[in-house]
Amino acid sequence: MQLSNYLKAYPYEESPDHLLLFSTLKMSKILLKKKTYHAIENNEALSSSDEALLSKLGMIVHDSDEEKLAALGFFDEINAKKTGLNIMVVLNLDCNFACTYCYEGGMKGKLYMSDETADQLVDFIKNNFPLHKKSLLIDFYGGEPLLSIGLIKYISRSLKAFTESRGASYGFTLVSNGSLFTKKTAEELIAFGLQGVKICLDGPAETHNQSRPFKSGAGSFDTLIKNIKETCDIAKIGIGGNYTRNNYEKFPLLLNYLTTEGLTTDKIATVKFDPVTKQPEGEFAPPDSMGGCASINEPWLSGIAAYLREEILKRGYNTQKLMPMTCMVESADSYVVNFNGVIYKCPGFIGKKGYEVGDLLTGARDYVSVYNLGIWKNENCTGCEYLPLCFGGCRYMKFLRDGNIDTVDCQKAYLDASLETLVKQDIKYKLKKDKR
Ligand code: SF4
Ligand code: SF4
Repeated sequence: MQLSNYLKAYPYEESPDHLLLFSTLKMSKILLKKKTYHAIENNEALSSSDEALLSKLGMIVHDSDEEKLAALGFFDEINAKKTGLNIMVVLNLDCNFACTYCYEGGMKGKLYMSDETADQLVDFIKNNFPLHKKSLLIDFYGGEPLLSIGLIKYISRSLKAFTESRGASYGFTLVSNGSLFTKKTAEELIAFGLQGVKICLDGPAETHNQSRPFKSGAGSFDTLIKNIKETCDIAKIGIGGNYTRNNYEKFPLLLNYLTTEGLTTDKIATVKFDPVTKQPEGEFAPPDSMGGCASINEPWLSGIAAYLREEILKRGYNTQKLMPMTCMVESADSYVVNFNGVIYKCPGFIGKKGYEVGDLLTGARDYVSVYNLGIWKNENCTGCEYLPLCFGGCRYMKFLRDGNIDTVDCQKAYLDASLETLVKQDIKYKLKKDKR
């Protein structure tokens, strides 16, 4: 047996005779005696129980070259097993906030999906929902999706009836600024299939109000806290937040505030903070709408990201787990539909010329070359221990940096700097939870 290509071995201070092994493919962890690890490296035979366990955890394989070949089919396998259709819908490009880092630029305005386009969206989804599909999930966003609440209900009413007639499920989520998410709205939308809402709080009141004020300039923090308190027992609330190099240190104060206000770990589904993405002026790519899928690839951020994750975990909140990279571009049956009916593969590319993959009337066309699918299918990446966490990184980040997606957005430096800490955090806080 050989060590898997997709394996990291870290020292484990609490037990110097052992190594902490982490499989980036299976996300499994184990403490293994150094002696056993070196025996595998030297092709020595293992006990049958060790061999069975390490194989099950994806840490050893019969042939590491074969494993690399199998990795080429990773997304094909995931796509073949997918039983759901996932569509992101930009309902409008309007907003009642004036966030300082919002780069909707010239694209922002009174641009709303029309009733006619909503009908075309429903037809498009019906035509792309084969009989074997079991679920339909829509992510509504904008702008501010709740400025189009009538359309949310209209679209959901049709699609809920359609999926239920097929014996499948319907649900939707919102990426909202939270200001219009009142108790009445939450109660109303639950009946239409609302599954969860992501609301951003950029630190405590002072910091948040500076970066996410209402258009009038008034602070929005108190309104959001009031709404979250009123709705957290009705809908799943995920709290996001966008930090900069200058204000990240304030974010733990927000966590303290949430706790003292009764927005405790049982009331808030997840908490995750992300860096504000630097974008070329005038480009449209709202940071809130990325659903957390855009990756961090600036090495200086790794320490801050791990620090904030620790602050979240030590207060007992759930946060994003380490998991394989699931980019929408590589995932089949995932599309982004703009308010005007144009289809894309990634929310970051909305409005970017050349990245359209069709429209609601003519349908989606082949997007393999436009989005450079399988960019990671090269010797360097298939032999890289981080492949399952990266798969060539994020095309959107690469585009922001270089204006093209011709090559990978390599995550090696970031993962070298941060993965060990993240894996050890998961062990520390899982162990703590288990002890409770
Ligand atoms: S390219 Fe990046 S932002 Fe776009 S779907 Fe993939 S991971 Fe997300
Ligand atoms: S892009 Fe870089 S980190 Fe990602 S799989 Fe390829 S070599 Fe590894």
